[in-house]
Order: sequence, then C-alpha cells, then structure tokens
Amino acid sequence: MKSRRPRLPLDAYEGGVRACDRAVLAQAITLVESRDEADAALAQSLLTRLLPATGRALRVGITGVPGVGKSTFVDALGMLLVGRGRRVAVLAIDPSSTLTGGSILGDKTRMARLSLEERAFIRPSPSSATPGGIARRTRETMLLCEAAGFDVVLVETVGVGQGETAVADMVDFFLVLALPGSGDELQGIKKGVIELADAIAVNKADGDGAARAQAALGDLKAALRYLPRKRPSWAPRAATLSGQTGAGLEDLWAVVEEHHAALEKTGELAALRADQQRSWMWSLIGDGMERSFRAHPGVAALIPKLEDDVVKGLITPTTAADALLREVGLGRTE
Ligand code: GDP
Repeated sequence: MKSRRPRLPLDAYEGGVRACDRAVLAQAITLVESRDEADAALAQSLLTRLLPATGRALRVGITGVPGVGKSTFVDALGMLLVGRGRRVAVLAIDPSSTLTGGSILGDKTRMARLSLEERAFIRPSPSSATPGGIARRTRETMLLCEAAGFDVVLVETVGVGQGETAVADMVDFFLVLALPGSGDELQGIKKGVIELADAIAVNKADGDGAARAQAALGDLKAALRYLPRKRPSWAPRAATLSGQTGAGLEDLWAVVEEHHAALEKTGELAALRADQQRSWMWSLIGDGMERSFRAHPGVAALIPKLEDDVVKGLITPTTAADALLREVGLGRTE
C-alpha cells in the first residue's frame, strides 16, 4: 500500500483554516492538491463546510510573459496592500510546470519582501498535475485562503498554454502586464489575451523606459477604444507602471477597487461569479467524461484506427466521433 502522510480530522482542518493557522492552511492545500481518493473526499467535505466563509476576497489575476516583471510587481503590490491592513494570498497557475517538468513561477523566493510578511501567504503552482488539474487545485486553494481570511487573492500566471484563460475564468479582475518595445510598440502580449483584460499596464515605466512606456500607452489607449466592452459597466483601462519604483501602483489598485465597486453595484459581480461556478462545474464534468470515455475498453480499442483514418482523410471527424459515441451507447454528435 502506498504510504500516505497522516491526515487531520475534518474539524481540525476546518478550525485551523478558519483561524488562519498557516501550518494547517498549508496542510489543507496539500489535501486539495492530493491525488489520493480518500484525500479528495476529505478535501471536498472540508470545502463544503468552508463555502459560507468564502467569496469575500477581491480576486485579481495577473499575467505576462516571463521577464515582464510579474514577481517584482506582485511583491510591490502585496507590500502596498499589506501596509493598508489587507491580507494577501498569492497563488500561481503555471502550465509550464506540466509541459516541461520545470516551473517558471515555482520559486518561492521570487517575492522576497512579501514572503516574509505575516499578513501574506504565497503558494506556488501545484506540480504533477494536468493543466486542468492545476486550475482546479488553484480555485480550491483560493477558497481555502478566503476562508482563512485573506481578503485579496492575487493569481499569477505565465503566458503559456491556456494559463491566461484559466486565470481569467477564476478572478474578478484580470490584469495584463506588457512591456514597451521599440518605438511605441507593445511587447509580450499574446494574441487573444487583450480581450481577457480588465486593465493592461505597460510595466518598467522607469528610467530609460519611462518615455517609451508613455508612447506605448498612447497607442494602447487608442487600440482599446476599438475593443468591445468586456462587461456592461466596465471598459478596459490602460496604464503605465513600475513594479520596481512603485510608480503607478496606487493608481492601478484604485482602478481595481473602482471596478469592484462598479460591478458590485450593478450585480454583475455576483452574476460573473455565478457564471464562473457554473462553467467550472461543467468543465469538470467535461474532463471527467472525456477521461472515462477514453478509458472505456471498446472506445480505447477503436481510437487509434479511427484517429488515423481521420488524419488520413479516409473518414470525416463526424463519422469517427459518432462511431465512438455509439460504442458507449451515446447518440450522434448533434
Ligand atoms: P517575471 O518573470 O515576470 O516574474 O519578472 P521579474 O519580476 O522576475 O522581473 C524580470 C526582470 O525585470 C528582473 O531583472 C527585474 O529586476 C526586472 N524588473 C522587474 N520589474 C521592473 C520594473 O518595474 N522596472 C525595471 N526597470 N525592471 C524591472
């Protein structure tokens, strides 16, 4: 039998998390991250008990290519917020850790000042999970942190794989960090990511970079005018920022709070979170169904040949999908 670290009784997890006992919170997160079935059941019981104590944090997602300055920014923003009496949890979604076996965001020492703060909690991305698994664990870790009383949750991701979409789907406010390029170009923004943004900040607007950042900001503002509104009461904002000097940080946080107030007033925040919960449930169902489907012996036996025929253009994808679905007694694709 596989050896397993001893677990606490459910009451002890619940009490410890609610009291923000950091050791118990860390153990509860380990429970949520575990692949063991008994752990998973215990984790779900714990989350169910804690649900009434969740949902009160400001949930902010942050993305940008490696080197854009995410950790420097999160460290500085976290310190600003802690200084204002907020309690800040920093979580990471790092699909690169599953794609390459190494993590771009995993290093805890990246936030040198914040990691020493009593009012902050930093948790790197869980390793050894699929990208979908990382997203689920990060969502559930966010709930644990909220139940522990953290009132700001910063979820950071690198621009790899589906990291940005996964984070945008679990936060209230999504911030994209970009860099000033040559001339007034922007660098480091992946296609399709701008549409997810509630704000885009041109980072490293300091020293030699200040003028270039200003030029890039002008262009960015013009480009944003052509984007459809992301929410009825919110048009995406553009700003310049320096995580290093702290310039623009306070203004940026004021934008996050303004967004929160605007969406709360209209009921959009509640609707947004309800949508996220619903689509999270359906994506778990989708993942689970696909896993079971692929594991079905009849389906597993047919897949290689049918996939091959589809790739070679011998049969249509619809024919192949219908044949596979019939194998488990399901109907046509449409
Ligand atoms: P990450 O990979 O996105 O987390 O980026 P880091 O925060 O590790 O920063 C990458 C590099 O850019 C480091 O050498 C930082 O010192 C530098 N850097 C980060 N933020 C700023 C900034 O606001 N201004 C300047 N000039 N450099 C910065």
